[in-house]
Amino acid sequence: MDLASDLVLYSARAADAVAALPKQLFIGGEWVDGSAGATYDVLDPATGSVICAVADARAEDGLRAIRAAHEAQRSFAATSPRERADILMAAFRLLHENIDRLALIMTLEMGKPLAESRDEIAYAAEFFRHFAQEATRIEGGYQTAPNGASRLLVMKQPVGPSVLITPWNFPMAMGTRKIGPAIAAGCASVVKPAPQTPLSMLALAEILVEAGLPRGAVNVVTTTDAGGVTEQVIDSGLARKLSFTGSTAVGRILLGQCARQVMRTSMELGGNAAFLVFADADIDRAVEGALAAKMRNGGEACTAANRLYVHTDVIEEFSAKLAEAMAALPVGNGLADGVRLGPLIDAAAREKVHGLVSDAVDQGAEVLTGGEPLAGEGFFYPPTVLTEVPATARLMREEIFGPVAPIISFSTEQEAIAAANDTEFGLVGYVYTRDLDQALRVAEALETGMVGLNQGVVSNPAAPFGGVKASGLGREGGNTGLDEYLEIKYVGIAVS
Ligand code: ADP
Repeated sequence: MDLASDLVLYSARAADAVAALPKQLFIGGEWVDGSAGATYDVLDPATGSVICAVADARAEDGLRAIRAAHEAQRSFAATSPRERADILMAAFRLLHENIDRLALIMTLEMGKPLAESRDEIAYAAEFFRHFAQEATRIEGGYQTAPNGASRLLVMKQPVGPSVLITPWNFPMAMGTRKIGPAIAAGCASVVKPAPQTPLSMLALAEILVEAGLPRGAVNVVTTTDAGGVTEQVIDSGLARKLSFTGSTAVGRILLGQCARQVMRTSMELGGNAAFLVFADADIDRAVEGALAAKMRNGGEACTAANRLYVHTDVIEEFSAKLAEAMAALPVGNGLADGVRLGPLIDAAAREKVHGLVSDAVDQGAEVLTGGEPLAGEGFFYPPTVLTEVPATARLMREEIFGPVAPIISFSTEQEAIAAANDTEFGLVGYVYTRDLDQALRVAEALETGMVGLNQGVVSNPAAPFGGVKASGLGREGGNTGLDEYLEIKYVGIAVS
């Protein structure tokens, strides 16, 4: 099939998949209109055109949703761990059975190539499988007090109604990473997806219903008024926990709001990942890793390599090879076969990315490939590699969130570590070296929650994902991901 005809075919299939989706709010197990009857348009970032309209919730609807979660909480917490595990496993299987349809929906609303959408849905499903297994292994403790006079019984119980706010870059996986442990722990939730990508979450809600989820255990509220809706939900006092993935700026606001109710929080915030290539590294592997760390999700990931520090001995070879590999990536509508880079999420995102590139170039950076927005419809920006980037360039401090790789040279290990840590963020760092001592020294010295050692992708449902410093609080995934939704209760037992 030629490029144009498969685009027509997949576009038609994607439109059919979207037409069959519910577009309302999902509250208390029912699909309902927003109280104001308002809707908003969801756009296709590849064309800028309207895909469909979905319900636009007001604060009242958010309150309805948190009340529904609050009402469902007691009975949901009383379900057996096996019952909750079975729901998650059924949803895992349904995600796989529906992967083609879900990938079309995701690519249409978010822009990433179909192959990446399929990867994300498989990754999203893994959180359900992982937490299905964890659900039946929630442990407590029993201990004799040091003086022998009493026993200490420790149990874990669900935190309670949880508010889950997700971003647009991984519309499904950032949902399952929160919904999976919430269900496993027995927490009812209100999910607020990003306004740009509500459709994947609506599809997921349908799947959870089919998987046997009790009414009210997960509620979904789509809105363009994230601030207004969320603040009232938090202030209602009915929610006990907030899990947020998004920008540090919004995370700070939400932490302030949650402080008023002394709520538990998990915060997955911004990143500014350094990617370090030492002189002895396998350069071809480092280029492959950089391509993954930079171009996964088109650079629209908090884990994206934001600054590439390369030893002076190998910088020329590394830069040339990376620029060649990036320039060869086919850019286009994610629904077309063979495309490796889709559009950015919206016009504002493209403007921001180009602003950061222009600022670096104005300050003396050299463009090896890319560097100018692509003409025509949609929000496309080409793979871009910059060298000779000065330390004062804005993109050294700000998250680029686009397909732009700035390369900077270094001479010593201390210099590389100091540069990598010279940021308010601390999510992830990548290290390429064949020297084991150096690898461990650098991994320990990086002020981050995660390190990729000779690998460009760290995300893994079985691993504790999260950052330090302004990159956030708490960990998602792994067994610690479940603890985020559990309270510890200690019972002191007198022994006579
Ligand atoms: P981005 O800039 O990448 O869109 P945001 O942090 O603005 O990142 O968005 C992440 C999520 O947070 C989205 O679901 C968005 O709707 C939501 N959000 C944005 N502002 C607020 C706010 N003031 N209160 C609660 N949620 C918000």
